[in-house]
Amino acid sequence: MDNVVYRRTKILATLGPATESPEVLDRLVKAGVDVVRLNFSHGSPEEHQARAERVRAAAKANGRFVGVLVDLQGPKIRVRRFKKGGILLKHNDDFCLNADLARDDGDQTQVGITYPQLPGDVKENDVLVLDDGMIVLKVRSVEGNKIHTSVLVGGKLSDGKGINLKGGGLSADALTEKDKEDIKTAALIEADYVAISFPRNSGDVKLAKLLLREAGGHGGIVSKIERAEAIENIESITEESCAIMIARGDLGVEIGDEQLPAVQKRLIKLARSMNRVVITATQMMESMRENPIPTRAEVFDVANAVLDGTDVVMLSAETATGSFPVETVAAMSRICRNAEQQSDASKSHHRIDTTFENADEAIAMASMYTANHLKVRAIASLTESGSTALWMSRISSGIPIYALSTHERTNRKVSMYRGVTPVDFPIIEDNNHAAANKIAIDVLLDEGVVKEGDLVIITKGDLMGTGGGTNAMKIVKVGKMPNLAD
Ligand code: PGA
Ligand code: MN
Repeated sequence: MDNVVYRRTKILATLGPATESPEVLDRLVKAGVDVVRLNFSHGSPEEHQARAERVRAAAKANGRFVGVLVDLQGPKIRVRRFKKGGILLKHNDDFCLNADLARDDGDQTQVGITYPQLPGDVKENDVLVLDDGMIVLKVRSVEGNKIHTSVLVGGKLSDGKGINLKGGGLSADALTEKDKEDIKTAALIEADYVAISFPRNSGDVKLAKLLLREAGGHGGIVSKIERAEAIENIESITEESCAIMIARGDLGVEIGDEQLPAVQKRLIKLARSMNRVVITATQMMESMRENPIPTRAEVFDVANAVLDGTDVVMLSAETATGSFPVETVAAMSRICRNAEQQSDASKSHHRIDTTFENADEAIAMASMYTANHLKVRAIASLTESGSTALWMSRISSGIPIYALSTHERTNRKVSMYRGVTPVDFPIIEDNNHAAANKIAIDVLLDEGVVKEGDLVIITKGDLMGTGGGTNAMKIVKVGKMPNLAD
C-alpha cells in the first residue's frame, strides 16, 4: 500500500559516542534501524550493556523490535604507540616493526606491535598493509623479533593503526582471551547475534558457539569474512554460522580491493542458497561521517548490495562517531527502498532441483511459490523459532512476510532477515485456530498492508506453540473468511 513505508533490506547500525543519548537513539529507531552493533573493539562491558538497554528501551517505546549484535574484537593486529603520537613515512624509508619495543616508544625508525608472533609469520618480500591500505611496507628481513621493512607507499602513521598481511596467512587464533571474556558479556546482555572477527575455519565458529552456549547465551553466530583463509573455507564456515558478514574493510586489504565486488556477489548467493543470512559491511556511506548527503558512488554501492540480494547493510563509523547518524540511516533506508522497486530485486530463482528436509521448509517454499504467482498481498507466518520466515526470506520476492511470534527473542532475531517484519503475537489458548487466523488478519490490517478483498497466506502448525511444527498453508481473502477454523 502506498502509505506504508515498507523496506525489505535491513539496516545494522554501529552504536558509539554519536548515538549515546536516548533522544538520538529514539530518532535512529524511528529512521528505521533494525539491528544495532556493539563494537567490542572499543568501550567497556558496562558501557555496552548500558547501550543495549537504552536501545531496547527506545525500540519498545516505538513498538518495534531491534536486534542487538555483539561484535568481538578478534586478533586485530595493530602498531603500538609513538612517543609523539605519529610519524610521516616516505617512499623507500627503512622502518622496523619491533615486537620487543616498549608500548609507547615508537619513533621515526621503529614501532611496537600488539601481536608478538608476527615476526614468525612473515618472510622476506611479504607485503604488510597498515591503516586499511594507507601505508604499505615490504619485508626486507626478519631478525629475531624485529621485522625490517622498506616503505612502498608512505604517509602518516599514528598510534594503534591496524596491520594486515597481504594474501593472508597469519597464525593468530580467531578468539583471543579478551574475546572469551566478552562472550560472557554477550550472554549477559542477551545479544541476539555474536559476530566473530577473523575466523579461519568452521572450528573457530564451533568454538565460539560452544563458549556462548556455556555462558548461557542464545545468540546466533555471525562469521565475519575478513581473511583470505576464510574465503577458502567459506562453505564450512557458512554452514556452521547463522549469518556471514562480508567485512570489506579487512578483507579488501588481505585479498586486494579489486577482488571485493566479485566476492561480495558470490558470498551473497552462497549464503542465501545455504539458508543463511548475509550482511554487507564497511564504508557503505563513509562520506556521511562528515556530510549530510551521500556521494553518488555510495548510493550505487548500497543499491547494488540490495540488488545482489544482501539481507543487511551495515553502518560503522557513520553512526558510531559521525556527525549525521540519523540522516545516514534515513538516506540508506531511502536508497534500499528504491533499489527494491527494481524488478530484479524481487524476481525469484526457484530452487527447482533442491529437496526439502522437512515439512516446515516445504510449506515455506510452497508459500513463496504461491505468493509470487498468485496475487497475494502479504504472508503471515506464525512462528516459534523464526525458521519458516528465514526459509521464506531466502526466496526473492516483493511480498511482505510478517513473522508473528509470542517470543521476543524470535522477534529480535528475525529483524536481520530480508523482507521479514517481526510482530508480537498473543499466546493462543486451546489451540484455537479460528482465533489465531483472525488475529493474524487483524495484525496485517493494523499494519496497513492489506485491505478487504486482498489475498493473504497464513502458515502455522496444527499444534500452535511447538517449534518446528509448521505444516499448513492457508490462502484467505481478507473480509471473507468462511472456514477460519483450520
Ligand atoms: P571491523 O569489521 O569494522 O570490525 O574491522 C568490518 C570490516 O573489516 O570490514
Ligand atoms: Mn574487520
